[in-house]
Amino acid sequence: MLPVVRRFASPEPACCLVCRRHATAIGQRAGGKRVVWLCDDPLCLELSRWVFGMTAGALNEVERAAMSDAGDVAGQYLDSIGKTDFATLDQEEWRKFLETFVYAFETAMRTQACQAVYGENWVSAERK
Ligand SMILES: [Zn+2]
Repeated sequence: MLPVVRRFASPEPACCLVCRRHATAIGQRAGGKRVVWLCDDPLCLELSRWVFGMTAGALNEVERAAMSDAGDVAGQYLDSIGKTDFATLDQEEWRKFLETFVYAFETAMRTQACQAVYGENWVSAERK
């Protein structure tokens, strides 16, 4: 692992512990030993200690739920352009589909992590 000063000046990517977005230079000591990297979303900062403490199985469930949610959002994009066959997408439509999925996945990871931590009744600001 690279020293903190060099980490963000190197080609080694760092992903947010919670949502997998590109991490900014926000590091938080987790478990008293490791530094975990986070993006600049306040929810990720709030959730980081909980996500760090999740078992692999619990985090897998959060990721699977987030993938399903992101798939729904990306599917809505395809519906909006009237195409469901990937082979008919042009380069820009394919890029937009991938971008839609990735951004929706990041949002869904925060939402699913909040639900795992705070319960099913938690409602994100984006859903209000
Ligand atoms: Zn994040």
